[in-house]
Amino acid sequence: MTNLSDTPAARPQINLLPGRSRRFRSGHPWIFSNEIAMTAEAKALPPGGVVTIIDAGSERLGVGTFNPHSLIGVRLLSRNPDQTIDQTFLADRLRGAVALRQRLYGRPFYRLIHAEADGFPGLVIDRYGDIIALEVNTAGMELLLPTLLAALDEVLAPSAVLLKNDSAMRKLEGLDLYERLAKGELDGPVELEENGASFFADLATGQKTGWFFDQRDNRAAVAALAEGRSMIDFYSYAGGFAIQAARAGAAKVIAVDRSEASLALAARSAEHNGVVIETVRAEAFAEMERLSAAGQRFGVVVADPPAFVKSKKDLAAGSKGYRKMARLAAGLVEPGGFLFTASCSHHMGTDAFAEEIRHGLSLAGRSGRILRSSGAGADHPVHPFLPESAYLKALLMQLD
Ligand code: SAH
Repeated sequence: MTNLSDTPAARPQINLLPGRSRRFRSGHPWIFSNEIAMTAEAKALPPGGVVTIIDAGSERLGVGTFNPHSLIGVRLLSRNPDQTIDQTFLADRLRGAVALRQRLYGRPFYRLIHAEADGFPGLVIDRYGDIIALEVNTAGMELLLPTLLAALDEVLAPSAVLLKNDSAMRKLEGLDLYERLAKGELDGPVELEENGASFFADLATGQKTGWFFDQRDNRAAVAALAEGRSMIDFYSYAGGFAIQAARAGAAKVIAVDRSEASLALAARSAEHNGVVIETVRAEAFAEMERLSAAGQRFGVVVADPPAFVKSKKDLAAGSKGYRKMARLAAGLVEPGGFLFTASCSHHMGTDAFAEEIRHGLSLAGRSGRILRSSGAGADHPVHPFLPESAYLKALLMQLD
């Protein structure tokens, strides 16, 4: 692999159209294609290449990556136009992100890079000790990848790096989908720690990068209510909520998922933590209906499903899904018990999600109180100009 050779004086330039620089100047990290002077030269630039950003006059505003074929034309790397984009630059950014996570968690298991908020547009990195799972979603990051991998070696010297470049988002950037090891070997599931519990995650075959670090604080909040209560965890995946509740002293814990492989990981992790959970392979709604008909009730019910709204056109159907989930899950909560629900759908807003949950409770004839309205943990920071990137919505309630 060759490293990028960028020099501020030699790199191509992109001009903004007159009057179109205000949002970018005020702090937004993107420039849209209709704000850019799309000259023949600009259109001919390689997708994702590093460019100097210039306003309609001659003021240099910064350096970013440019994709002439994407609606998001430029993604900011630095407001300093004289910044060279090289291994040293990327390594410094990585060090900053590592330092923040060390302050937050101490243990090396977290989302290390959360895209723009960490200064890496289009990049996600999850860290499992010295094993790294990496997701590249933009042409700019794809071109920077060899340099980035060298920077990762410099900063963390990982034993293995897995590229999970299989997100549909890549198609908008003209990128193909693939998954491959960039370094080292992966021999089965990897071990991680969260809130003092140990888990196994399968990076290669699991969901996303293998583990949903975003629910760390919410899992702790749910576990803190579970002592002495029965608990059921729908869409359990590798058992994050279930096992932490069991460790906190839940009287009985059931993990429900339709994936046998996920439940096998959950069972293995439970044993590793010295706790007992029951695993049930089932479709969540059908299992909720079955348990309800059988008169079963639980002290704590968790329903943290996959995204029901995967694109804007799914909004109506997905919204109904959240409503139904809330109705069925609420029906399983014993009086005075707790319900935790979440949505990781980017296209579902916080208010819209809360509205569907409210509606579901009302259909179930239940009332109660919201104890905690939250999102992802602090290792998933949000760029202040991209509030819509705060995708995770969660509600923890007590029901009467
Ligand atoms: N709550 C999990 C993350 C959920 S990921 C955690 O804390 O880590 C979504 C999970 O839902 C996957 O494991 C998937 O297998 C499961 N799933 C998807 N659709 C389902 C359905 N209809 N019924 C049951 N499980 C489902």
